[in-house]
Amino acid sequence: SDVTEALSRLVRDVPDYPEPGIVYKDITPLLADHGALTAVVHALAAAGRDDDGRTAVDLVLGMESRGFILGAPVALELGVGFVPVRKEGKLPRETHTESYSLEYGEATLEIHTDAIAPGSRVLLVDDVLATGGTMAATRRLVESCGGVAHGAAVLLELSFLPGREAIGDLPLLALGQV
Ligand code: 5GP
Repeated sequence: SDVTEALSRLVRDVPDYPEPGIVYKDITPLLADHGALTAVVHALAAAGRDDDGRTAVDLVLGMESRGFILGAPVALELGVGFVPVRKEGKLPRETHTESYSLEYGEATLEIHTDAIAPGSRVLLVDDVLATGGTMAATRRLVESCGGVAHGAAVLLELSFLPGREAIGDLPLLALGQV
């Protein structure tokens, strides 16, 4: 498909970034290509539709930073609004906070407490699912607000890592796997 071709041609492997032994997936060439960007946004949006093609979510949420780039156009395509989940200390008003462990140290994500009306169905969008720690913490933030995590959509799943296990029963759409 267009999407599979775009992912294989326009996501670059960067060895030893950000540390020795890690192969980083650089999506910036894909973002710079209008046809590829259009195709992946359209494909991600399918995770927010029911079998009849109707929008099945009330909001799209994206995680800082590449989840912002992909999530906002997915929200527009679905005809709903966008909510950012940000790194610690960036949101100006009252927040819910979730911390999770990284290989070295901890990461903290935040959401405005009033960002999601109780009962709202939310699609979670990011570029890469690796260990799943980011996605699982984001789901907890949605639930702290009283929202319902409808599903997750990513460009790439690193299937040598236990990301799917980490997100439990949250439905995942991954446009590609490595
Ligand atoms: P996780 O929490 O699943 O281990 O890591 C996922 C988060 O780290 C995502 O927000 C994603 O943007 C970022 N990430 C981890 N590995 C990569 C990678 O190889 N390429 C890109 N673009 N992002 C990555």
